[in-house]
Amino acid sequence: MLRTLPDDDARAILWRFADRYDLQMLVQSSRGVARGPVARLVAQGGRNSHEWTPEKGELLTAFDAAGLTAVGLDVEYGGFIEGPKNLALALVAFELAWVDAGAATSNLANFLALAPIHERGTDEQRAYYMRASAPGDAGEGREPWRGAFALTEPIPYVGVETGLLGGKMRIAAWEEGQEPVLHIEKRGRFITGMGFADFVTAAVDSADERIKGSCMVILEKTDPGIFDRGVPARKLVHQLSSTRDPVFSLRVPASRIIGGYTIRDGTIVPNYSHGEVIEAVFRRTRVTVGLMTSAKLLSAVEPLIRYHRGRFRGGEDIQPGSPRFELGLQQKEDVLHRLVDIWATGEAATSLGFEAARVFDELDPLERQKDAYFAEQGVSSGRPQFRALATIAKDALEFLAESVTPERQRNVSRYDALKSDPMIRFVLLDSVANVLCPAVKLWNTGHGANVMREAVSLMGGYGITEDCPGFLGHKWMDAQLEATYEGPEAVQRRQLSISMTNDVFLAQYTVWIAQMRQLASDRAGTGACTLATAMQMWLWTLQYLQQATDPGGARLYQSSRQGVSFPLADALSWILAARQQILDVLELEKTGPSHPVVAEQLPTLVPFLMDLCHVQTARAAGEVGRLCTDLVFGYRRHPAWDGPGRSSCYVANELDALEEVIPGIAATARFYSDVIEIDGTHPPKAGPCANTDGLEPFLRLRAKMDGCLTGSRLAKDRAADALTHVMIPEALGYPL
Ligand SMILES: Cc1cc2nc3c(=O)[nH]c(=O)nc-3n(C[C@H](O)[C@H](O)[C@H](O)COP(=O)(O)OP(=O)(O)OC[C@H]3O[C@@H](n4cnc5c(N)ncnc54)[C@H](O)[C@@H]3O)c2cc1C
Repeated sequence: MLRTLPDDDARAILWRFADRYDLQMLVQSSRGVARGPVARLVAQGGRNSHEWTPEKGELLTAFDAAGLTAVGLDVEYGGFIEGPKNLALALVAFELAWVDAGAATSNLANFLALAPIHERGTDEQRAYYMRASAPGDAGEGREPWRGAFALTEPIPYVGVETGLLGGKMRIAAWEEGQEPVLHIEKRGRFITGMGFADFVTAAVDSADERIKGSCMVILEKTDPGIFDRGVPARKLVHQLSSTRDPVFSLRVPASRIIGGYTIRDGTIVPNYSHGEVIEAVFRRTRVTVGLMTSAKLLSAVEPLIRYHRGRFRGGEDIQPGSPRFELGLQQKEDVLHRLVDIWATGEAATSLGFEAARVFDELDPLERQKDAYFAEQGVSSGRPQFRALATIAKDALEFLAESVTPERQRNVSRYDALKSDPMIRFVLLDSVANVLCPAVKLWNTGHGANVMREAVSLMGGYGITEDCPGFLGHKWMDAQLEATYEGPEAVQRRQLSISMTNDVFLAQYTVWIAQMRQLASDRAGTGACTLATAMQMWLWTLQYLQQATDPGGARLYQSSRQGVSFPLADALSWILAARQQILDVLELEKTGPSHPVVAEQLPTLVPFLMDLCHVQTARAAGEVGRLCTDLVFGYRRHPAWDGPGRSSCYVANELDALEEVIPGIAATARFYSDVIEIDGTHPPKAGPCANTDGLEPFLRLRAKMDGCLTGSRLAKDRAADALTHVMIPEALGYPL
């Protein structure tokens, strides 16, 4: 039986930073800020105003003091984390959002502003703005610069459609032999950090025939012209971040174009369009947003257990030792089962988010190697690189084919050569990252917001008050913002509908199915079997939809048909989250025994977490089955439309069986509809009620998946029982 909630040591193994002491320290310092100043400010009603108040401003100082302002900075510019920082930033966001995601956003907005410079800026830009953003040493008396990222514009311009740029740049002055000076006109909508930003990275388009295309440009508050921070957005969420609608009309040197520019035939050509910059930025930063919502889900577990257990204590005749005193609302199965669902979702979402962050940590250096390789080969960005990568993708597919070939039959020298090629490693990982990032953002925030509502409801009336332990009501609303900013769900589904059909991704996905099958046969009762079948069903459905047409002859899987591709993107996200949850628990089971503190928890913790996996895979398989069945059948003509005009929903022998359960139903059914006779022949006017032509493999998978659910409710019962025994601290650790 589970004794305590998973502790930091177990978490560090699950989320794979047990060997990173720097990250473990970072978690502690982030937690200190979150459960200290942030929690106190929320408890004191700091969220009741959308103005940026001095009290909110003090949080920035707390971030500086705890080192959180410097996490995303390279070491040479004042940072302290060596190498890629995606996992580090994800952990900070997770810890802060455990208490308040607005505070987390205040911290992250700075890195979002710096991200275009970090990812695509020139060396000089990177050095200048990163140094300026680093808090000074003690006694230096220097305030670090804060930034804002301005893409979204007032309606009718940029929102989901990032190409509809209203912001413009023109050449204000260009003297012979001098650097051109640009005039930037940009209005922003909902720009985070705008209340105090010292610089802004803004997306603009050319309004001058001597500038080609679009770019992102850096604006500073002291640039000549108008730097108007605008009015605060009257938002209902994330009140501990500053969001405004700024207006800029500024003159800046052309050297502020992010990534620099070249001059061709008297025209300024930015080295990166705004689209290229934001693609590089969002694919990383969206992962952290997904983790903010998953933190909320896991943060709800302890307050809910405490509330349920203590619900009737203190009442007359409710004596210690009695079930009402000891268990309170936990006597009710529904309360327990729903909390198990919330917990399982939180585990899956967090596992998925941290896996994505780790993938980006591995991808970052490979991406730089790729850029260096292409620069050396003279392959420029855009189409030429795209073509070159397509050739490498073929090698990557060959590598995957070799890797699943039994060693005896493998072409070893070719396999070894492909395996050690960093470009192949890049292509493999890039295709996975392109799926994981939108899946995290989509599923963690979108589905997470729905599950957060469940958490609120389990707290009864308190759930929707400011006094709710764990601030669950605030968190529910905040989750909706996380589903919206940095691209709402439609953006993530749109991206997934492209990236999930990539051949290299699908080849890896096929290997994952085989691994999950293997796991299922080794370890029954983990949900792996259910998941493997759901994974197969998803792949079958994708391949079917890519070939199939609707009754009008139009292809089903195409970009304009979001009704087809979007649900399939949702289904894949369910799968990816459940898969990563299982893999993480297996990691804990494998490496936990070598960790003295964790080892003693394992006999109770691993079975419990496995039960959560089983619960989650059953739910995921249910979603996959529902979505795929809907898509596979939903676009077919009904056989009755071309046949007798009527169909039968009853088969005679089934009806006889039903009659035993519901006496009288057979006669009623025969009265109202035609019944298919036992030998399958139809009465004159009835046809079959489903069009199953060519769907036998799908039907088999569907039946298999239903059977795979065997035992999943027993797992839920066990997990529910564990909730009634697990020890929790006397009081919540915040606010203090
Ligand atoms: C508190 C807050 C902070 C923010 N911070 C920043 C920031 O710092 N910097 C910044 O640049 N922006 C910021 N934003 C803006 C945010 O990123 C946008 O609001 C978001 O990207 C959606 O744009 P929109 O509001 O214009 O929605 P719209 O573009 O109007 O879309 C509305 C809805 O229509 C549907 N839809 C739209 N287009 C499509 C499509 N092609 N296919 C299918 N469905 C579609 C979707 O359901 C979508 O959710 C912030 C927003 C808020 C609320």
